[in-house]
Amino acid sequence: MPIIGIPPKNTKVSNMNAQNAKSTKKYRADVIVIATILALSLLLVLVMTLTKKQGAVALVEIDGVVAGEYSLDVEGTFPLNGGTNVLVIEGGTAYLSYSNCPDHTCEKTGKIRYVGQTIICLPNRLSITIKGEASDGVDLVS
Ligand SMILES: [Zn+2]
Repeated sequence: MPIIGIPPKNTKVSNMNAQNAKSTKKYRADVIVIATILALSLLLVLVMTLTKKQGAVALVEIDGVVAGEYSLDVEGTFPLNGGTNVLVIEGGTAYLSYSNCPDHTCEKTGKIRYVGQTIICLPNRLSITIKGEASDGVDLVS
């Protein structure tokens, strides 16, 4: 920086140069922020993928009351709630193959297999939640 300490002859040009330098710096800062955000998002996705845990049981609750637990290792077709919904356990996944509810959202949810995933049938007040292990005191339906 040879001009330091020397008053610039052309103030206008000098100001423009300073402004350009400033905006370049700001641009670089933006790139760093964006790159950091991207890196963090990628890391988050990676962590979520790696920590996605295959479930062990499907917990069925009707009206908020536990109605049964179904091991994801035992394949089968299980009528729930007196037959309003039919649960299928297949290949380590759980899904509803039938529901008498009007919207059929629960059937459209499809197969669930990871801990924390749920199928909810609002009209029948029924929910299926994948859990990592069987609850104490609840007998597995098999
Ligand atoms: Zn439903």
